[in-house]
Amino acid sequence: MDSIKSFADLGVSDSIIRALSSLGIETPSEIQTAAIPEALDGKDVCGKASTGSGKTFAFGIPLVQLAKRSKPLAPNALVLVPTRELALQVRNVLFSLSQTDPSKKVWIEAFYGGVPIDRQIRALRKGVSIVVATPGRLLDLIGRGALYMNSLERIVLDEADLMADMGFLPDVEEILSHVGNDHQTMLFSATLDGYVDVLRKRHMNNPVTHEVAQDEDRSELMSHHFLYVDSRNKNALLSKVTQGAERSLVFVRTRDSAEVVAQTLYEDGADAELLTGAIKQSARERVLRRFAQGKTQVLVATDVAARGLDISGLDLVVHYDMPDDEKAFVHRSGRTARAGKTGVVVTFVQGNQVRSLLRIQDLLGLSQPILKVDINDPALAGIAQGEQLNAQEYKVHTQDHSRSTSSGSRWSSQKRSVSSGSSRSGGGYSSRGRSSHDGAFQGRRRSSY
Ligand code: AMP
Repeated sequence: MDSIKSFADLGVSDSIIRALSSLGIETPSEIQTAAIPEALDGKDVCGKASTGSGKTFAFGIPLVQLAKRSKPLAPNALVLVPTRELALQVRNVLFSLSQTDPSKKVWIEAFYGGVPIDRQIRALRKGVSIVVATPGRLLDLIGRGALYMNSLERIVLDEADLMADMGFLPDVEEILSHVGNDHQTMLFSATLDGYVDVLRKRHMNNPVTHEVAQDEDRSELMSHHFLYVDSRNKNALLSKVTQGAERSLVFVRTRDSAEVVAQTLYEDGADAELLTGAIKQSARERVLRRFAQGKTQVLVATDVAARGLDISGLDLVVHYDMPDDEKAFVHRSGRTARAGKTGVVVTFVQGNQVRSLLRIQDLLGLSQPILKVDINDPALAGIAQGEQLNAQEYKVHTQDHSRSTSSGSRWSSQKRSVSSGSSRSGGGYSSRGRSSHDGAFQGRRRSSY
């Protein structure tokens, strides 16, 4: 077995090692060990790695280390990402790496829609070394002649599978058609099939491909609970399960119902906020900042708004509405159990959804039973701390379809029953002041919509 390498062994500069150290990061992750030396060497690199694997540093370290001083209208590197939130997140990670070497004057900016374009054009005129952008806004900027694409030496396609799922591939193809021939390309994606494979073949030059068995590792850290609900007790159940969690992310299907769910939680005493596509970008950023700082306890979000979020200390994800398919289930659930920490995922299942849940479970190799919980079970408030529920198993009917016998799933090692959770009292429920809220949700609502 290879010995564990340090960042210095991978060729990372002293100033970046200092920056990593100040973030508490001392040892490279698997994808970082594999990708950083190749990327520093100028090779095209393809990483099959999902969020949580440390892929942002895997491409971010080489980008910052190799970045050149900013020049007007001529960025040196481009990172394409599917969402605004991810653009900001990636920009902040790269920025944190660049701060320990002020002599380099590497300027990093995130460009995305929903905010005025003029400021972005002005920034490009002054000179941006590394542009992190969503495809649509970048095309707008290219159309206005705000940057020379042939100055780019390095391009990263981050979360390429999500860009494909969100219908951005024609935009990505168009962007790549503006780039000169002589550049390095890196692509990171949770899956490397279908359209992503087309991108890889069409735009990469003999890429070194690294696959990281990250999902297996993370599945050990993630525990799942599937709770049978009916529409009348969904909100009450949500209040209970989020009570004991330090920070929860709740996924709701539509903007309108997300608003109702957040309002109900707030009225129930939770410090809840909303993150949906209907909220102005600047307000979304404030909401995310408060959540990341631990000022908000529960964030109610739609899928699009929460893609790729990396919030440390997020201990609970709730699928309030079932996701469309197993991919969405994995992406949503993967907001917790990150960077070696444990996390709890609770999925609400209504009667007519049992069939699709069983399909998702089969595809992902999840075998936990669906539980019929008692809304008055005090253990519900401790679910995020692994407390044991006093629940009966929902009996699967023939119309729910019998579980398929498919095997060999990526998550097949995760055969954990709910009852295996350790029983702990407390769970933080009593520590929450249910009467102490100050109208903050209504106040924020006005500014957020
Ligand atoms: P990512 O997969 O890039 O979204 O990163 C997920 C999380 O892992 C982030 O919070 C990073 O700060 C953290 N992380 C990345 N690399 C390391 C590392 N080598 N050691 C510890 N944590 C890391």
